[in-house]
Amino acid sequence: MSRLVVAADFGGTNLRSALVNEAGDVVERIDRSTPAEASPDAILREILQLFRDIVARAPAPPVSAALGVPGLIDADQGMVILAPNVAGFRNLVLTAPIEEQLGIPVFIENDASAAALGEFRFGAGRGTRHLLHATLGTGIGGGIVIDGRLYRGARGLAGEIGHVIIDPAGPRCNCGSRGCLESMVSGVAFAERARRVLATGSSPLLQEIVGARDPSAADLQAAAEAGDKTCEAEIRHGGHLLGLGLGSLVNVLNPEAITLSGGLLNMGDMLLGPMKESMHSIAYGPASGTIVRISSLGDEAGLLGAAAVAFERVE
Ligand SMILES: [Zn+2]
Repeated sequence: MSRLVVAADFGGTNLRSALVNEAGDVVERIDRSTPAEASPDAILREILQLFRDIVARAPAPPVSAALGVPGLIDADQGMVILAPNVAGFRNLVLTAPIEEQLGIPVFIENDASAAALGEFRFGAGRGTRHLLHATLGTGIGGGIVIDGRLYRGARGLAGEIGHVIIDPAGPRCNCGSRGCLESMVSGVAFAERARRVLATGSSPLLQEIVGARDPSAADLQAAAEAGDKTCEAEIRHGGHLLGLGLGSLVNVLNPEAITLSGGLLNMGDMLLGPMKESMHSIAYGPASGTIVRISSLGDEAGLLGAAAVAFERVE
Protein backbone atom coordinates (compact mmCIF):
# COMPACT_ATOMS: atom_id res chain seq x y z
CA MET A 1 0.00 0.00 0.00
CA SER A 2 1.19 3.51 -0.89
CA ARG A 3 2.56 5.56 1.99
CA LEU A 4 0.58 8.61 3.11
CA VAL A 5 1.66 12.07 4.24
CA VAL A 6 -0.26 14.94 5.77
CA ALA A 7 -0.09 18.10 3.65
CA ALA A 8 -1.28 21.53 4.74
CA ASP A 9 -1.50 24.81 2.90
CA PHE A 10 -2.06 28.04 4.83
CA GLY A 11 -3.14 31.14 2.99
CA GLY A 12 -4.83 34.44 3.71
CA THR A 13 -8.30 32.95 3.07
CA ASN A 14 -8.07 29.19 3.61
CA LEU A 15 -6.44 26.67 5.86
CA ARG A 16 -6.39 23.38 3.99
CA SER A 17 -5.16 19.97 4.95
CA ALA A 18 -5.09 16.67 3.12
CA LEU A 19 -3.86 13.10 3.14
CA VAL A 20 -1.79 12.48 0.00
CA ASN A 21 -0.32 9.22 -1.30
CA GLU A 22 2.93 8.68 -3.22
CA ALA A 23 1.18 8.98 -6.57
CA GLY A 24 0.01 12.48 -5.65
CA ASP A 25 -3.63 11.52 -5.09
CA VAL A 26 -5.45 13.61 -2.51
CA VAL A 27 -7.30 10.86 -0.64
CA GLU A 28 -8.88 13.06 2.06
CA ARG A 29 -9.15 16.80 2.32
CA ILE A 30 -10.44 19.41 4.79
CA ASP A 31 -10.78 23.12 3.93
CA ARG A 32 -11.51 25.75 6.59
CA SER A 33 -11.40 29.54 6.51
CA THR A 34 -8.40 31.27 8.01
CA PRO A 35 -9.43 33.02 11.25
CA ALA A 36 -9.64 36.72 10.38
CA GLU A 37 -8.00 38.20 13.45
CA ALA A 38 -6.24 35.62 15.48
CA SER A 39 -3.59 35.61 18.17
CA PRO A 40 -0.69 33.19 17.63
CA ASP A 41 -2.24 30.94 20.31
CA ALA A 42 -5.63 30.89 18.64
CA ILE A 43 -4.22 30.15 15.19
CA LEU A 44 -2.04 27.39 16.61
CA ARG A 45 -5.09 25.80 18.28
CA GLU A 46 -6.94 25.99 14.96
CA ILE A 47 -4.05 24.34 13.15
CA LEU A 48 -3.68 21.56 15.74
CA GLN A 49 -7.40 20.82 15.43
CA LEU A 50 -7.13 20.70 11.64
CA PHE A 51 -4.27 18.19 11.90
CA ARG A 52 -6.15 16.05 14.45
CA ASP A 53 -9.19 15.98 12.17
CA ILE A 54 -7.33 15.00 9.00
CA VAL A 55 -5.18 12.36 10.72
CA ALA A 56 -8.34 10.83 12.21
CA ARG A 57 -9.41 9.97 8.66
CA ALA A 58 -6.16 8.18 7.78
CA PRO A 59 -6.52 4.44 7.08
CA ALA A 60 -2.86 3.94 8.12
CA PRO A 61 -0.48 6.21 10.09
CA PRO A 62 1.02 8.95 7.85
CA VAL A 63 4.84 8.92 7.61
CA SER A 64 5.32 12.69 7.92
CA ALA A 65 3.61 16.05 7.54
CA ALA A 66 4.49 19.36 5.89
CA LEU A 67 2.94 22.81 5.80
CA GLY A 68 3.31 25.40 3.06
CA VAL A 69 3.23 28.97 4.36
CA PRO A 70 3.18 32.17 2.27
CA GLY A 71 6.05 34.10 3.83
CA LEU A 72 9.51 33.93 5.30
CA ILE A 73 10.13 30.73 7.18
CA ASP A 74 12.98 29.18 9.13
CA ALA A 75 12.68 25.54 8.12
CA ASP A 76 15.36 24.32 10.57
CA GLN A 77 13.56 25.88 13.55
CA GLY A 78 10.14 24.97 12.15
CA MET A 79 9.18 28.61 12.52
CA VAL A 80 7.23 31.17 10.52
CA ILE A 81 9.26 34.39 10.69
CA LEU A 82 6.70 36.53 8.87
CA ALA A 83 3.62 35.83 6.75
CA PRO A 84 2.18 39.24 5.86
CA ASN A 85 -1.16 37.87 4.62
CA VAL A 86 -1.98 35.59 7.53
CA ALA A 87 -2.96 37.22 10.83
CA GLY A 88 -1.03 35.82 13.80
CA PHE A 89 1.75 34.29 11.70
CA ARG A 90 4.82 36.06 13.04
CA ASN A 91 7.71 34.43 14.90
CA LEU A 92 5.48 31.41 15.42
CA VAL A 93 7.04 28.02 16.10
CA LEU A 94 4.73 25.57 14.35
CA THR A 95 6.36 22.21 13.91
CA ALA A 96 7.25 21.29 17.54
CA PRO A 97 3.67 21.41 18.93
CA ILE A 98 2.29 19.54 15.90
CA GLU A 99 5.00 16.88 16.15
CA GLU A 100 4.21 16.44 19.82
CA GLN A 101 0.57 15.87 18.99
CA LEU A 102 0.94 13.64 15.91
CA GLY A 103 4.07 11.72 16.83
CA ILE A 104 5.46 12.00 13.27
CA PRO A 105 8.09 14.35 11.75
CA VAL A 106 6.60 17.73 10.73
CA PHE A 107 8.21 20.26 8.37
CA ILE A 108 7.38 23.72 7.08
CA GLU A 109 8.30 25.32 3.79
CA ASN A 110 7.68 28.56 1.97
CA ASP A 111 4.61 27.92 -0.20
CA ALA A 112 6.27 28.84 -3.51
CA SER A 113 9.27 26.60 -2.79
CA ALA A 114 6.84 23.82 -1.90
CA ALA A 115 4.94 24.49 -5.15
CA ALA A 116 8.19 24.04 -7.10
CA LEU A 117 8.75 20.65 -5.51
CA GLY A 118 5.09 19.77 -6.14
CA GLU A 119 5.44 20.52 -9.86
CA PHE A 120 8.70 18.59 -9.95
CA ARG A 121 7.25 15.49 -8.31
CA PHE A 122 3.61 15.46 -9.38
CA GLY A 123 3.02 18.14 -12.02
CA ALA A 124 4.39 19.95 -15.07
CA GLY A 125 8.00 19.49 -13.94
CA ARG A 126 7.91 15.68 -13.97
CA GLY A 127 10.79 14.16 -15.92
CA THR A 128 13.21 17.05 -15.25
CA ARG A 129 16.15 17.14 -12.84
CA HIS A 130 16.63 20.92 -12.80
CA LEU A 131 13.57 23.11 -12.57
CA LEU A 132 12.63 26.73 -11.97
CA HIS A 133 9.05 27.35 -10.85
CA ALA A 134 7.37 30.77 -10.77
CA THR A 135 4.06 31.56 -9.07
CA LEU A 136 2.42 34.51 -10.79
CA GLY A 137 -0.38 35.76 -8.58
CA THR A 138 -1.07 38.68 -6.25
CA GLY A 139 2.68 38.54 -5.63
CA ILE A 140 5.45 36.71 -7.45
CA GLY A 141 7.20 33.77 -5.84
CA GLY A 142 9.34 30.93 -6.95
CA GLY A 143 11.26 27.83 -6.16
CA ILE A 144 14.32 26.10 -7.50
CA VAL A 145 14.91 22.37 -7.86
CA ILE A 146 18.53 21.39 -8.49
CA ASP A 147 19.50 17.82 -9.25
CA GLY A 148 16.15 16.54 -8.02
CA ARG A 149 16.17 18.33 -4.63
CA LEU A 150 14.61 21.60 -3.53
CA TYR A 151 17.34 24.25 -3.28
CA ARG A 152 16.85 26.07 0.03
CA GLY A 153 20.01 28.17 0.30
CA ALA A 154 21.96 28.92 3.46
CA ARG A 155 18.98 30.00 5.57
CA GLY A 156 16.09 28.40 3.71
CA LEU A 157 15.19 31.63 1.96
CA ALA A 158 16.21 30.78 -1.63
CA GLY A 159 13.81 31.21 -4.52
CA GLU A 160 12.56 34.76 -3.86
CA ILE A 161 12.44 35.45 -7.58
CA GLY A 162 9.86 38.22 -7.13
CA HIS A 163 12.66 40.44 -5.86
CA VAL A 164 14.91 40.28 -8.88
CA ILE A 165 15.28 43.92 -9.87
CA ILE A 166 14.46 44.74 -13.46
CA ASP A 167 14.19 48.54 -13.23
CA PRO A 168 16.08 50.43 -10.51
CA ALA A 169 13.86 53.46 -11.20
CA GLY A 170 10.68 51.38 -10.96
CA PRO A 171 7.95 51.45 -8.31
CA ARG A 172 8.72 50.75 -4.65
CA CYS A 173 8.32 47.08 -3.66
CA ASN A 174 7.08 45.65 -0.33
CA CYS A 175 10.64 44.50 0.33
CA GLY A 176 11.92 48.09 0.29
CA SER A 177 13.71 48.00 -3.08
CA ARG A 178 12.57 49.58 -6.33
CA GLY A 179 11.59 47.91 -9.58
CA CYS A 180 11.46 44.29 -8.37
CA LEU A 181 9.61 41.87 -10.62
CA GLU A 182 6.86 41.77 -7.99
CA SER A 183 6.42 45.54 -8.01
CA MET A 184 6.20 45.61 -11.84
CA VAL A 185 4.39 42.46 -13.02
CA SER A 186 2.38 40.88 -10.15
CA GLY A 187 -1.41 41.02 -9.78
CA VAL A 188 -0.96 44.03 -7.49
CA ALA A 189 1.35 45.67 -10.05
CA PHE A 190 -1.14 45.15 -12.90
CA ALA A 191 -3.87 46.71 -10.75
CA GLU A 192 -1.54 49.69 -10.28
CA ARG A 193 -1.00 49.82 -14.07
CA ALA A 194 -4.80 49.89 -14.48
CA ARG A 195 -4.98 52.76 -11.98
CA ARG A 196 -2.41 54.70 -14.01
CA VAL A 197 -4.30 54.09 -17.26
CA LEU A 198 -7.50 55.38 -15.62
CA ALA A 199 -5.69 58.45 -14.29
CA THR A 200 -4.57 59.42 -17.79
CA GLY A 201 -8.09 58.98 -19.18
CA SER A 202 -6.67 57.01 -22.09
CA SER A 203 -9.07 54.05 -21.84
CA PRO A 204 -12.81 54.80 -21.79
CA LEU A 205 -13.41 51.04 -22.03
CA LEU A 206 -11.45 50.31 -18.84
CA GLN A 207 -13.27 53.20 -17.14
CA GLU A 208 -16.59 51.66 -18.15
CA ILE A 209 -15.59 48.21 -16.81
CA VAL A 210 -14.25 49.53 -13.51
CA GLY A 211 -16.88 52.19 -12.80
CA ALA A 212 -16.32 53.61 -9.32
CA ARG A 213 -14.49 50.52 -8.02
CA ASP A 214 -10.79 50.13 -7.40
CA PRO A 215 -9.36 48.47 -10.55
CA SER A 216 -7.84 44.99 -10.57
CA ALA A 217 -5.52 43.04 -12.86
CA ALA A 218 -8.63 41.21 -14.13
CA ASP A 219 -10.18 44.55 -15.19
CA LEU A 220 -7.07 45.41 -17.19
CA GLN A 221 -7.27 41.99 -18.83
CA ALA A 222 -11.01 42.33 -19.57
CA ALA A 223 -10.47 45.69 -21.29
CA ALA A 224 -7.51 44.34 -23.28
CA GLU A 225 -9.52 41.29 -24.39
CA ALA A 226 -12.35 43.58 -25.48
CA GLY A 227 -9.91 45.30 -27.84
CA ASP A 228 -8.44 48.16 -25.80
CA LYS A 229 -4.94 48.72 -27.19
CA THR A 230 -3.64 50.76 -24.22
CA CYS A 231 -4.55 47.99 -21.76
CA GLU A 232 -3.17 45.33 -24.08
CA ALA A 233 0.12 47.24 -24.32
CA GLU A 234 0.35 47.33 -20.50
CA ILE A 235 -0.05 43.55 -20.28
CA ARG A 236 2.37 42.91 -23.14
CA HIS A 237 4.95 45.20 -21.54
CA GLY A 238 4.48 43.31 -18.26
CA GLY A 239 5.08 40.05 -20.11
CA HIS A 240 8.23 41.48 -21.66
CA LEU A 241 9.59 42.46 -18.21
CA LEU A 242 8.67 39.07 -16.76
CA GLY A 243 10.68 37.44 -19.55
CA LEU A 244 13.71 39.58 -18.68
CA GLY A 245 13.51 38.51 -15.04
CA LEU A 246 12.95 34.82 -15.74
CA GLY A 247 15.45 34.80 -18.61
CA SER A 248 18.15 36.19 -16.30
CA LEU A 249 17.45 33.36 -13.86
CA VAL A 250 17.55 30.81 -16.67
CA ASN A 251 21.02 32.07 -17.62
CA VAL A 252 22.17 31.50 -14.04
CA LEU A 253 20.49 28.15 -13.39
CA ASN A 254 20.16 26.48 -16.81
CA PRO A 255 17.01 24.51 -15.84
CA GLU A 256 15.45 22.04 -18.28
CA ALA A 257 12.09 23.72 -17.80
CA ILE A 258 10.35 26.66 -16.20
CA THR A 259 6.93 25.83 -14.78
CA LEU A 260 4.38 28.56 -14.15
CA SER A 261 1.30 28.74 -11.93
CA GLY A 262 -1.00 31.43 -10.59
CA GLY A 263 -3.91 33.66 -11.48
CA LEU A 264 -2.01 35.85 -13.95
CA LEU A 265 -1.86 32.89 -16.34
CA ASN A 266 -5.49 33.77 -17.17
CA MET A 267 -3.99 36.56 -19.27
CA GLY A 268 -2.82 33.84 -21.65
CA ASP A 269 -0.70 34.62 -24.68
CA MET A 270 -1.06 38.34 -24.23
CA LEU A 271 1.27 37.94 -21.23
CA LEU A 272 3.08 34.72 -22.12
CA GLY A 273 3.88 35.56 -25.75
CA PRO A 274 6.04 38.63 -24.97
CA MET A 275 7.38 36.79 -21.89
CA LYS A 276 8.74 33.88 -23.95
CA GLU A 277 10.04 36.24 -26.62
CA SER A 278 12.11 38.37 -24.24
CA MET A 279 13.18 35.33 -22.20
CA HIS A 280 14.55 33.61 -25.26
CA SER A 281 16.03 36.84 -26.66
CA ILE A 282 18.34 37.23 -23.63
CA ALA A 283 19.08 33.52 -23.22
CA TYR A 284 22.78 32.88 -23.31
CA GLY A 285 24.15 29.64 -24.76
CA PRO A 286 22.50 26.46 -23.50
CA ALA A 287 19.84 28.43 -21.64
CA SER A 288 18.07 29.07 -24.95
CA GLY A 289 16.62 25.52 -24.93
CA THR A 290 14.59 25.99 -21.73
CA ILE A 291 10.97 24.86 -22.07
CA VAL A 292 8.08 26.80 -20.51
CA ARG A 293 5.26 24.66 -19.07
CA ILE A 294 2.01 25.60 -17.35
CA SER A 295 1.16 23.95 -14.02
CA SER A 296 -1.23 21.04 -14.28
CA LEU A 297 -2.03 20.83 -10.56
CA GLY A 298 -4.74 23.51 -10.39
CA ASP A 299 -6.50 23.95 -7.07
CA GLU A 300 -4.42 21.20 -5.43
CA ALA A 301 -1.03 22.79 -6.23
CA GLY A 302 -0.50 24.07 -2.67
CA LEU A 303 -1.42 20.77 -1.02
CA LEU A 304 0.63 18.69 -3.45
CA GLY A 305 3.57 21.05 -2.92
CA ALA A 306 3.43 20.45 0.83
CA ALA A 307 3.02 16.71 0.21
CA ALA A 308 6.14 16.70 -1.99
CA VAL A 309 8.07 18.38 0.85
CA ALA A 310 6.78 15.81 3.35
CA PHE A 311 7.93 12.93 1.11
CA GLU A 312 11.28 14.53 0.24
CA ARG A 313 12.14 15.18 3.89
CA VAL A 314 11.81 11.54 4.90
CA GLU A 315 13.62 10.08 1.88
ZN1 LIG B 1 11.04 43.43 -3.83
